[in-house]
Amino acid sequence: MVKVWCNNCKTEYEAKSDEPSDRRTKCPGCGSTSRFFSVNVVAKALTYPDLEYKGRPEGRRKPFIKGKIGYEPSTKTQRWMWREQVVDRRNGHYKKVVIDPVTGEVIRFCEEPLRKHQGYGSAKKKMH
Ligand SMILES: [Zn+2]
Repeated sequence: MVKVWCNNCKTEYEAKSDEPSDRRTKCPGCGSTSRFFSVNVVAKALTYPDLEYKGRPEGRRKPFIKGKIGYEPSTKTQRWMWREQVVDRRNGHYKKVVIDPVTGEVIRFCEEPLRKHQGYGSAKKKMH
């Protein structure tokens, strides 16, 4: 069996690794056979941990630090990449590192002041 992700609704489900492309297992979520990513779970019953954390002062809504450490699937290499991401609001610091765990190659290294990183995702704000 292989673990696959639906390209349409990103539901994770299992399918046979040798099924013909015209008779693929349909996504249980939306019925699509289009797949975003698949990983072979036969060879090793691996679990890929992915940890998300938030530090938040008492009584405050906004976390002063949040981050993610773990593995994420890469569409480019079709493998799992190790990834660490930290948004440190207290020190105004942003960091993202992506490493290929097989080759040890650093795929992405980004470290910059959080101010520079504004404009991405939820940080979108008008300048005036
Ligand atoms: Zn789906």
